[in-house]
Amino acid sequence: MSILKRTLALLLVVASLFALGTVSTGALTVEEQIQAANVAIAEINKKKAELEAQLAEIEDEVEAAQYKANTYAQRRALVEEELELTNTKIELKQTELSEKQMLIDETQRNYDETYALFKERLVSMYKNNTASSLSVLLGCDTFSEFLVTADNISSIAQRDTDMMDQLIQQKQELEEAKAAISEELEQLEQDKQEREELYSQLAALYQEANGELTEVQAEQAAKQEDYDELLRLREEQEKIIDALMAENSDIDYVGGYYAWPVPGYSWISSPYGWRTLFGQPNFHGGMDIAGSNAAGVGIRGQNAIASNTGQVTTAYYGTTGYGHYVIIDHGGGYKTLYGHLDAIYVQVGDWVAQGTPIGAVGSTGNSTGPHLHFEIRINGEKIDPETMVSYGT
Ligand SMILES: [Zn+2]
Repeated sequence: MSILKRTLALLLVVASLFALGTVSTGALTVEEQIQAANVAIAEINKKKAELEAQLAEIEDEVEAAQYKANTYAQRRALVEEELELTNTKIELKQTELSEKQMLIDETQRNYDETYALFKERLVSMYKNNTASSLSVLLGCDTFSEFLVTADNISSIAQRDTDMMDQLIQQKQELEEAKAAISEELEQLEQDKQEREELYSQLAALYQEANGELTEVQAEQAAKQEDYDELLRLREEQEKIIDALMAENSDIDYVGGYYAWPVPGYSWISSPYGWRTLFGQPNFHGGMDIAGSNAAGVGIRGQNAIASNTGQVTTAYYGTTGYGHYVIIDHGGGYKTLYGHLDAIYVQVGDWVAQGTPIGAVGSTGNSTGPHLHFEIRINGEKIDPETMVSYGT
C-alpha cells in the first residue's frame, strides 16, 4: 500500500467516523459532520494537486523513455536492412565466384585435353620417326614439297602450343578475376560481421530502454490509479455532504417570499442548469450573480443577504468548491446556500431575519471571478432559484 493510500485511508476513517457521529466526543451536529467531510475533501484536493504535478513529471519521463526506445528500434531496423542488403550482395558474389570457378575448371579441362592430344601426336610422331614425319618428308618428290611438308608438321605443333598458351592465359585471367571477387567477398563478410555486432549492441540498448519504459509506465499507471481513487473518494465525501444537507430540521416552515440575495446587482452570469465548464458538461445547481450595480460599483465586497428568515446551519470557510459559504434553514425542508463569500458575518445557530447581511460577495473556492453562487434546496433537491426569486424583490 502506498503512503498516499495509507494517509487517505486513515483520513477517511476519521472523516466517516465523524460523519456517522460515532466519535466518542459526543454526538456531532450535522454542521460538524459536514465540516469533517469538507476537511476530507480539502485534504483530497491537496493530494490531488500533488499527484497532478507528479503525473505531469512522469508523463515527461514516459515520453523521453519512449523516444529513446524508438530511436534504438529505428536504428536497429536500419542496421537490419543494411544486413539484409549485405547478405544479398554476398549471395551474388558467391554466385559470381562459383561461375568463375566453373569457367576456370572448363578452361583447365580444355587445356588438359589439348595437352593430351598434343602429347599423343608427339609420341606417335616419335614412334614413327622414320616411318612417319621422316618418311613423310623423305616421301617428298621435290625439295620445295619437302619444305612445305616440314613447315606443315611444325605448324601443327605450333598450333597446339599456341592453343595451350592461350588457354593458360585465359585461365590466369579467370583466376585473377576470381581473386578480385574473393577479396570483395571478404570485405562484404567483414561488413556483415561489423553490422551484426552493431545490431546486437543496438538490440541490447533497445531492450534496456524498453525496460526503463515499462518501469516508468508501470509507475505512471500506479499513480493514475491513485488519482482515480482520489476522485472516487472525493465523490464519496460530496455524496455524504449532500445527504447531510438533505436532512430536514424540525423547524416550522417560515413561509413568505424569497428575496433577491444581492440587492442592486441584477446580472445572472450563469443560470441554473447544464453548462460547459473547462470543456466538460457540468450541472450548475444554483445561479451566479455577478457584475456591477447601476452606479458602476463591482459586486465584490457587497452584502449577500438572507433571502428568507431562518437559522444558519452552515458557516464554512472552505478553500475548494463553494469556498466560504453559508446555509440557512427556513424549515419545512427549505434551505438557501450562499457560496464563494470573501467574509462571513453570521455563525452557526444564528437566527437571521430576511434581508440580514450574512456575508461579503467574493471569489473563494472554485471560482473564476467575484460572484454569489445562490442555491435553493427543497428536501435536499436543488431547484432553479429563478422560479422563486426575481430581481427587485
Ligand atoms: Zn455558481
